[in-house]
Amino acid sequence: MGKPTGFIEFPRNAAPYRDTAKRILDFDEIYVDHDVERLATQGARCMDCGVPFCQSEEGCPIHNLIPEWNDLVYRDQWRDALDRLHKTNNFPEFTGRVCPAPCEGACVLGITDPAVTIKNIEMAIIDRGFDEGWVVAEAPEQRTGKRVAVIGSGPAGLAAAAQLNKAGHQVRVYERADRIGGLLMYGIPNMKLAKKEVVDRRVALLKDEGVEFIVSTAIGDGSSGSLSISTLQQDNDAVLLTTGATVPRDLPIPGRDLDGIHFAMDFLTSNTKSLLNSQHKDGKYISAKDKHVIVIGGGDTGTDCIGTSLRHGCKSLVNFELFPQPPAEREANNPWPTWPKIYRTDYGHQEAQLVQGEDPRVYSISSLNFIGDDEGKLTGIRTVEVEMKDGQFHNVEGSEKDWPADLVLLAMGFLGPEHAVSDPIDLEYDPRSNYLAAYGKYKTNVDGVFAAGDCRRGQSLVVRAIHEGREAAREVDIYLVGSSQLP
Ligand SMILES: Cc1cc2nc3c(=O)[nH]c(=O)nc-3n(C[C@H](O)[C@H](O)[C@H](O)COP(=O)(O)OP(=O)(O)OC[C@H]3O[C@@H](n4cnc5c(N)ncnc54)[C@H](O)[C@@H]3O)c2cc1C
Ligand code: SF4
Repeated sequence: MGKPTGFIEFPRNAAPYRDTAKRILDFDEIYVDHDVERLATQGARCMDCGVPFCQSEEGCPIHNLIPEWNDLVYRDQWRDALDRLHKTNNFPEFTGRVCPAPCEGACVLGITDPAVTIKNIEMAIIDRGFDEGWVVAEAPEQRTGKRVAVIGSGPAGLAAAAQLNKAGHQVRVYERADRIGGLLMYGIPNMKLAKKEVVDRRVALLKDEGVEFIVSTAIGDGSSGSLSISTLQQDNDAVLLTTGATVPRDLPIPGRDLDGIHFAMDFLTSNTKSLLNSQHKDGKYISAKDKHVIVIGGGDTGTDCIGTSLRHGCKSLVNFELFPQPPAEREANNPWPTWPKIYRTDYGHQEAQLVQGEDPRVYSISSLNFIGDDEGKLTGIRTVEVEMKDGQFHNVEGSEKDWPADLVLLAMGFLGPEHAVSDPIDLEYDPRSNYLAAYGKYKTNVDGVFAAGDCRRGQSLVVRAIHEGREAAREVDIYLVGSSQLP
């Protein structure tokens, strides 16, 4: 433990984001340079708890060795901190940027004081590792001669590929998009996670280590250039499905077919693709410029739609939430160390607050119908306030309201994975339409076919996808060679 009295002496001091007024003018990352002194002081706040809840199941799903690297950062031993960090996490540069940090929600210090700034420390360790040239490709010394196909290149697929390659298997990752990364690439926007500098950097390392990547190749959907899953089964000793939860929840109310209503993912994907291909010069994206934008649904997806719309230069922005505003503090039924379900202001909300002078979120509101003109163009949306009674939402009489809208973005979550890849091999599904494979085993009903990440567990987090990818890799390794040295 660094400084026994650190948690008494120093208050929490989290790293700020870049100046709000400046950052909304570009799509660069929102983070500021790391302040080593601040981080060392924050590391000193860690109490090195006998039972470190931060790294428990309730805290960090990949069980990062948090108290160890907090201490090492306090002692200025960054290289050792990096080694400890890489033991449990293949991609700390992703989680250090985008993870909501359940570890901080579970931090023991959080019972009485604000938690240790664990996420800031994680990001600083890995960024320093890259800056110093400590992160290098490490190809396996021996190959087993076994081949594994991974379908989908999100964090689950990438983590599994990294681990299986480490075990000496020849791994080929198939991705239907034109770039590798899944939602790390085309989902989470550039200002939260830089594509060329951060995602591509890690993909290049994986390539150097021997992982093969095939892009623009869908498996099983019959589109041109697609491959059948049975071809992959024949050519490989095992197949791992990491195809994500890509079916979006729709809002089938009157007027849904009007021009101007889009799924959030179509908006975010086209924005990032156009940004990377041409700095938006090709115009091949859904623009929010000069439009009245309404984002329906919160969470990370909703926030990313807000941040992107503001950067396009929207005229106004409102974010509808069906649920009531969360409380400022934990409620009695949400005690430590569970994830605190409290009111949070994310980067997009901060930005909207600055531009519009108020938070864009409107709570306890439900959409009744979209409004359009004679040409089929969206012009607005009619809503009603709702209240929860006996566990159900009820409309509040007389609270109907019309809002102007030229662009509506549907960010209401995802229903599960697509089945084009799984139906041809009669894969079984769970009641929520996810691929059926027990947690910890990742084996489906089809011999040699495994599943991990959002396609197995439903829409979740990057850190959980990495966790499942790592665990599934170990199970595949055991299936291939009878035992595994993988963690
Ligand atoms: C907009 C948005 C923002 C988010 N922000 C955060 C955040 O800030 N923090 C966080 O922790 N989590 C966030 N999440 C959730 C997180 O991104 C996911 O939980 C995580 O990416 C799931 O990883 P995965 O590998 O299981 O699947 P995905 O990342 O969804 O990757 C699946 C990949 O499989 C490919 N694929 C699918 N079918 C086929 C096929 N038939 N053939 C070939 N390829 C196929 C897809 O193209 C995709 O690239 C966000 C999600 C969204 C939508
Ligand atoms: S729970 Fe908090 S204080 Fe305890 S070891 Fe983890 S980070 Fe340190």
